[in-house]
Amino acid sequence: MISIVGIGPTKDDMTIRALATIKKAEVVIGYKHYIQLIEDLLEGKEIIKKGMGQELLRAEIAIQKSQQGKKVAIISSGDPGIFGMANVFFHLIGKYSDIQVEVVPGVSAVNHASSLLGAPLHDFAVISLSDILTPLEEIKNKIKYAIKGNLIIALYNPRSKKRTEPFYQAQKIFSKYLNPNTPVGIVQSTTSGPETKIIPLKNLKEDMVNMSTILIVGNTTTYVEEGYMITPRGYALPKSIHPLSQEFFENFLTGERILGPNKDCEYYPCHAHPQNCTFCYCPFYPCGDRSTGGKWIKDKGVWSCQDCDWIHQDENVNCIMKKLPNILESVQDLKNKKRELLKLRRECLLKINKQSNE
Ligand code: SF4
Repeated sequence: MISIVGIGPTKDDMTIRALATIKKAEVVIGYKHYIQLIEDLLEGKEIIKKGMGQELLRAEIAIQKSQQGKKVAIISSGDPGIFGMANVFFHLIGKYSDIQVEVVPGVSAVNHASSLLGAPLHDFAVISLSDILTPLEEIKNKIKYAIKGNLIIALYNPRSKKRTEPFYQAQKIFSKYLNPNTPVGIVQSTTSGPETKIIPLKNLKEDMVNMSTILIVGNTTTYVEEGYMITPRGYALPKSIHPLSQEFFENFLTGERILGPNKDCEYYPCHAHPQNCTFCYCPFYPCGDRSTGGKWIKDKGVWSCQDCDWIHQDENVNCIMKKLPNILESVQDLKNKKRELLKLRRECLLKINKQSNE
């Protein structure tokens, strides 16, 4: 049996199954640096260390050893299925008969980076910037279409001393299609452990990354709060309808509504001038999504919309008005159909962001 084992980004992150598989193995094969990481687990085993670029050779040796009846573990850092040894090995699967193989998954570098940054991942793409085997044009297209699909992008192998062009090109695409304030999480592996920082895209510089860096580039909804990078999924927070909101939406539903700016209101402009007052009370309250400016008032359990101008901008109001009447049939729907309402909010949020990126 050949086990292709993901040992995770650090030994502390190894799974119980990975540990058990390594313990059972008679022969352990791997890149010398990864073998060093788990050397204390390898006493009494045959150890075969190979250098970078010898991945196919490692797989071939594993097959030979297994044909001799040995239990073999091929070590991969992170997860073997994400730019790891599983792909290398399965290239050879049709070359030999009777190969018994299993892939033991590991914590990938993207999982690890994400856990250190907070909760930056929602739907996401993992792209390697290494153009050693992949044409640069293909990498550029992957980045471009991932942005267009509003995916968060995790970049592996961003830049080596010799290979600088892919990162330069990626930066060009990011600055063309993304808001300059889009949060970027940088996780740098160092000998003393990982170092993390979160910066706006506009501050990303090439000397911040190397082959040991994982970059996570947010999407249009990603924000930073309390030092964490967060991409909201849109959970519906519990809601009670405030009496003023109740009154506003009762009038709204009977068609007594003021569309556009309400300059006669003594509070106008309560946000930024000019403002659209169609939704003096927000149908999505509380959205719990920091990306449009709302925030929690600490220790009070209250969601504040004071800094959210989004609901008062014409294009957003127009987008909401197109579908809101289909959802909101009674004031209680503010509570009962919260998920549908939040989906509409997200739809309008992404539509407008997409238009401004085109
Ligand atoms: S006003 Fe803005 S922050 Fe407040 S609930 Fe509505 S969309 Fe969210």
